[in-house]
Amino acid sequence: MTQPTRHNRNRLRDLVRAHYDLQDMRLRFEGRVNAASPTTLDGQAKKSPRPALHPDDVKLFDKWQGGLESFEEEALAVIKGELKHDPVWKGFLEGIPGVGPTMGAVLLGGGFNIELEDTPSKMISYAGLAPGQKRVRGQKTNYNPWMRTKIAGVMADCILKACVRKVVQDKPEWRRIEYPWMDGPRWVKSYARAYFDYRNRKESMRVECMACDGTGEAKAEDLDPAVAEPSWEARFQASSNDLDPATPELSVEDPAPRKRRGTPGKTKASKATKKCTNCDGTAVGPWGRSDAHRHRAAVRYFVKLLLIDFWRFWRAAEGLPVRDTYAVEKLGHAPHSGRPLYDVG
Ligand SMILES: [Zn+2]
Repeated sequence: MTQPTRHNRNRLRDLVRAHYDLQDMRLRFEGRVNAASPTTLDGQAKKSPRPALHPDDVKLFDKWQGGLESFEEEALAVIKGELKHDPVWKGFLEGIPGVGPTMGAVLLGGGFNIELEDTPSKMISYAGLAPGQKRVRGQKTNYNPWMRTKIAGVMADCILKACVRKVVQDKPEWRRIEYPWMDGPRWVKSYARAYFDYRNRKESMRVECMACDGTGEAKAEDLDPAVAEPSWEARFQASSNDLDPATPELSVEDPAPRKRRGTPGKTKASKATKKCTNCDGTAVGPWGRSDAHRHRAAVRYFVKLLLIDFWRFWRAAEGLPVRDTYAVEKLGHAPHSGRPLYDVG
């Protein structure tokens, strides 16, 4: 396989940006068409519809939308063609379930600089995933927020979707897990194993409750359903039922009822003494403030492991020096035989 050149990487960067520009325009255009439609997306009549589009304009809009979709598809096809020649895509990324060509192009052409990033921690910092990196209002970020969203949001969801199943997989790469905090057994493979291992370590800890600071009482802001985060189970179930035809797919808009640790259904009158749901009023609970908090921490953990493997593979493919012991040295992990978690080749 040919060595990727700077030209290939620059081309990939331009292609992936063009692809997202086209996608962005297509989505905005769809929003405009939907706003002009007399019905909602699920076919219900709108309460106060705007005057309907002229039939000629409907035809024109359909044509434009089709054009935008075909441009976007064409850009993706060209990206796939470029990736075919890329040893890092062929040798590492392509084999990770849930990582498609668009995400491959983001990782390889989205902004990482493998020559300058001579340690995995520099790559992790660029993606905004180092400890303490978060957006502060009014301050310039010291990372690429676009990359962070793509990696910790889009890519992590896609990998969990592809690597977690509810039904038995009779294949050696799938491992069955069942932890007390889960709503049933799961079959996992690849980097999803690291997600669950980490998540279970946090769930099994018993520390002074971080949600109520050891008071056992829910804080006022936690009681407001308007600010409640969607449960990780809802998102998780929405993405892991695809091999289980008996279970209808849940959408993000229609999440499953959240399983709370505390007493559900208290009225407003008892608000002042409502138990903390994280520790069930005992003041001692698992690490983290909520299920969603533990989910996000586990996601950051497993995508960092993936980035370390990616960094190592990419550096080696470019003939650049690679430090093997980063995870053990810097992250304090015990070396374990399963790494890289995804067995390459
Ligand atoms: Zn608590």
